[in-house]
Amino acid sequence: MRRPAFLLIPAAALFGLTLTSCSATSVAGPTPTMADVGTLGIRFGSLPAGVQAQVTVSGPDGYLSSTATNTTIENLPPGTYRVSALTAATERGIAVPTEPTAMIEVPAGGAADVVFEYTFRDFHATSPGPPPDDSTVGPNGGEGGDQPDVSTIPGRPSDFRFTVGNQAMPVRWNPCQPISWALTTDDGGEQPRLQEAFARASAATGITFQQADRADQAQIPVTIRFTTGATVEGEGEMRYSYVNSGSIVGRKVANEGTVDAVLGDSSTAALRSNLYLHEIGHVLGLAHVDATDEVMHSPLSISSPLTEYSLGDLAGLRRLGREAGCLNPPPPLLDTVASGARRLDRPAIPQIGGDPGLVLRADHSFTFGWASTLADPPTLQTRIFRVDPARRDVQGLVPIPLPLGFRGDLPGKTEVTALLAGGADCQVGDRYRIVQQNIFGATTTPVALSSCKVVAAR
Ligand SMILES: [Zn+2]
Repeated sequence: MRRPAFLLIPAAALFGLTLTSCSATSVAGPTPTMADVGTLGIRFGSLPAGVQAQVTVSGPDGYLSSTATNTTIENLPPGTYRVSALTAATERGIAVPTEPTAMIEVPAGGAADVVFEYTFRDFHATSPGPPPDDSTVGPNGGEGGDQPDVSTIPGRPSDFRFTVGNQAMPVRWNPCQPISWALTTDDGGEQPRLQEAFARASAATGITFQQADRADQAQIPVTIRFTTGATVEGEGEMRYSYVNSGSIVGRKVANEGTVDAVLGDSSTAALRSNLYLHEIGHVLGLAHVDATDEVMHSPLSISSPLTEYSLGDLAGLRRLGREAGCLNPPPPLLDTVASGARRLDRPAIPQIGGDPGLVLRADHSFTFGWASTLADPPTLQTRIFRVDPARRDVQGLVPIPLPLGFRGDLPGKTEVTALLAGGADCQVGDRYRIVQQNIFGATTTPVALSSCKVVAAR
């Protein structure tokens, strides 16, 4: 059973899709609107042979692309581009970019270049000193300090698959915001095991998981049921939505999931741990693999359950986690102020197309101000809604017509005035919402009217 799509904010044309709607990631091509475009060269420096690198490029107007080879991207609108290299996994180890993210300025009519260097961590080399075949060196024989000895972890780093999106750009959660989970049912004593599973997922991804008190406020409700027998069953699901409004072509970002577990009353603790790790893997965007020594293999093995993620699981989780970069919506606005006025001077509202003989005159105006930091990626659209206190549904949010071309994307102080003709009302305390969107989502900042003055006619 799948619940209906989850809407982040009404009236902003957000669509939620379940993971069953598999689709290849479409990459928006550059759309130069002027002759003055630039180029961006991407080169891979010290990349070991056989390592498949991956670099994503994001920039102005929601530009997004990715490459796995040395390449020069042409016809780019000038501006600041964020170029991020992912950790690349091979059977032998992982190649970690020394500087994973670069902010590159592409000049109009010019060229910019970025080179990524990697360091290679070989899973089969014992460090430092002893040769790899020195069988007298045990798991704790090296000088690695707190570093886990990866040579004892089963599996292969190439054994992972993503549920949605392609190998280069899987659909994932924003790893830079905490994700909440909560039990919807009596835990039957399973809570510590679940907490440990989320802690392991956190260690593998860099994502913070927070246990919420109330299941209806958690992004990942967890259901545990009991049955007879020694087996376990489960379902883990990732859901995502994307902003796709007006000129904005949004990216899919996971924002909801579920874990359902059915535990046989004689199932072992190890098998239950294996199940939780597996379902959390699904919630984070991992699909099943054929390799039997990975947690993401299905079915789970009753005789030899895995209580820790294996190398393929870990490699996949790394690519879904912090190392792959934040997917931040715009930051919340600060110092918000809102004031209204009844306009006896009745200024003309600028006409956009339509009948030039028709002049609309404003009987009210509303002015909103805020301070903001620079959004990364940039804010593409700002909208303001009046909250109708009498309604709780989508119709309770009435869009306020902002001046044409207003994007509200500049950092620092912003002020915008909306002129309204007819139907407006102004009461101190009236609630409004300022909604800012970028390619990764929308951020809503509430604000209330602090004054309602009368502007006299001249
Ligand atoms: Zn599964």
